[in-house]
Amino acid sequence: MSFEVAVNRLANARSLAIITGAGISAESGIPTFRGKDGLWRNYRAEDLATPEAFERSPKTVWEWYEMRREICAKAKPNEAHLSIADMENHFDDFLLITQNVDGLHTRAGSKKVLEIHGNIWKARCMKCKNVFEVKDVPLKENPVKCQCGSIARPHIVWFGEKYEPGILEKAIDFLSKTDFLIVVGTSGMVTTPIYLAQTADEAGAYIVDVNIEPSLITGLADFFLQGKAGSALPHLWNKSKEIRK
Ligand code: NAD
Ligand code: ZN
Repeated sequence: MSFEVAVNRLANARSLAIITGAGISAESGIPTFRGKDGLWRNYRAEDLATPEAFERSPKTVWEWYEMRREICAKAKPNEAHLSIADMENHFDDFLLITQNVDGLHTRAGSKKVLEIHGNIWKARCMKCKNVFEVKDVPLKENPVKCQCGSIARPHIVWFGEKYEPGILEKAIDFLSKTDFLIVVGTSGMVTTPIYLAQTADEAGAYIVDVNIEPSLITGLADFFLQGKAGSALPHLWNKSKEIRK
């Protein structure tokens, strides 16, 4: 399976789905959880991004998010985010499914995007469940409060939590009909993307995995495009675009 085959298949695809993970934002300066920069005050992400951690200390969890929000605020979309935003303009049938919470896809111009793990710029009231934007960096108050007076939490799906009702169904519905899927910067340690990619595979989609190293997705892929997302993905897309009618 060669690069040329992938280029041709993408050029002739009718429908395009993309799944992105933390790796796509690494070149924008946002660390992945499992990379060497993933630790914070000796905590692992798995010890902070949980309902139990928030129950123990909402302030500590918000402090961690404050640190991450600062990084996200400084980060800019990279060439991979921009390529994906451009792809959307060339496919009537398009869906971007991201696990990332950094908001870089929408900043790059993507519109048809499902943020399945939530968004770091939103909070959700623990009591009335109201979801609202919190843009201040640093935060005006910690913990963040809702207008009803109750404490709010980051509007993010934490380890061990359920997805927003209906959101995975939307992804699955699209993936079971698409003929091309690109997975970018996703380890598969959180297993949802594997399951989503399997859905596309069973539907007969051609799958490209873009990663600096083999991941748990690679075995499902028709083509493993090894490299950094910021250069590998634009390379694939620019070649396809040249011959796409
Ligand atoms: P992950 O499990 O998605 O793994 C990151 C993957 O990216 C790895 O396979 C790695 O090899 C690959 N990668 C690293 N640099 C790359 C590059 N330049 N180009 C292509 N691939 C590259 O991510 P995780 O950090 O273990 O996070 C688990 C969960 O937390 C996911 O939901 C993730 O999206 C979320 N998270 C989000 C952000 C963000 O919003 N930017 C950051 C950290 C974690
Ligand atoms: Zn409230």
